[in-house]
Amino acid sequence: METIGIAGAGFAGAVLARELVESGKYQVVIFEQRDHIAGNCHTVRDPKTQVMIHQYGPHIFNTSREDVWDYVNRFGKFMPFMNRVKAVTEKGMFSLPINLMTINQFFDKTMSPEEAKEFISQIGDSSIENPQSFEDQALKFLGPDLYKNFFYGYTKKQWGVEPKELPASILQRLPIRFNYDDNYFTSRFQGIPEEGYTKIVERILDHPMISVQLGEPFVPEYKKEFKHIFFSGPMDAYFQYKLGRMNYRSLIFDRFDGKGDMQGNAVINYCSQEVPYTRISEHKHFAPWETHEESVSFREYSKLAEEGDIPYYPMRLAEDKELLARYMELAEAEKGLSFIGRLGTYRYLDMHVVIGESLDLAKACLAESSDAWPKYSGKPL
Ligand code: UDP
Repeated sequence: METIGIAGAGFAGAVLARELVESGKYQVVIFEQRDHIAGNCHTVRDPKTQVMIHQYGPHIFNTSREDVWDYVNRFGKFMPFMNRVKAVTEKGMFSLPINLMTINQFFDKTMSPEEAKEFISQIGDSSIENPQSFEDQALKFLGPDLYKNFFYGYTKKQWGVEPKELPASILQRLPIRFNYDDNYFTSRFQGIPEEGYTKIVERILDHPMISVQLGEPFVPEYKKEFKHIFFSGPMDAYFQYKLGRMNYRSLIFDRFDGKGDMQGNAVINYCSQEVPYTRISEHKHFAPWETHEESVSFREYSKLAEEGDIPYYPMRLAEDKELLARYMELAEAEKGLSFIGRLGTYRYLDMHVVIGESLDLAKACLAESSDAWPKYSGKPL
């Protein structure tokens, strides 16, 4: 039996490990530098309030891939949850993503879906043909007022750069709706695990052929002990940043406790640049099936990830992509090594995408001998 090493016990590593060992052909050792599994999806029950805390920020599971949904449901019960975000802007409080309620209230109108479509197409900048940047995408499809009030300030705070330097794909994560649907996601399946994400990952890892070494960072010297390594940490970290650092945003969570209902919703965004944080999450609202007298909220601040900070969001600026291409050359020159997940492939991926890619990668690996395994769980560039 071949032994495979995996760095990181988040969804990318856990799902891949489970799929490989279930074939009966491999055993897996996972190195996890933190003292817990589940990566940034980690949840923990707060000892003081008993509220389930999403320690590294809100995670709402959503996917349209039935196999991914079935897969996670094998390892724990998902409770129905729809994210209905509210946004505080300089013009008041509105519903997000931008929907007919937002548009009518913002412009003080009572338009039908068709009227609103026509109205927005009038205020959108039709001279922009093929929007590449976040800003062009927003100006084309929303016009200047909605862009300024909902996106400009928030995006500057979140990414620390002008929205014209960011790719349109970041804004494309959010739909614009010409009906009253205020569900943040459009995926077919949505929910939050009843016992938290960490329990799900714990069950995925609960297999006699998987061992997890917590508190142990993977170091390249371990490589020779394994047939193959899958690395889910940052690609530049694997190479000890020898070509330089790719940019990431990191987050700071500022906890404050209260009683009863602190803000009446799970997530409220603060879109103005004058407010230093991007959003406040009140975590008991992520588990509406539970009741708690006390409550816990977190103000979320974004900053550039510096040495020692946890990387959350790959920035993917032009300079980052150039560096990434050079790191990929190093990656390709090294045998027996693959990169997986959000950090490993330097892409802004959600949980469901990472899980889907690990399932697909495992399938590809099981069809080939380990010498021919794919280098990445998805295309990094
Ligand atoms: N965004 C914004 N205003 C909002 C919500 C989102 O400008 O009120 C922009 C911002 O640039 C953000 C991006 O849309 O980074 C994607 O938002 P999403 O909610 O998907 O971010 P996540 O929950 O992954 O942090």
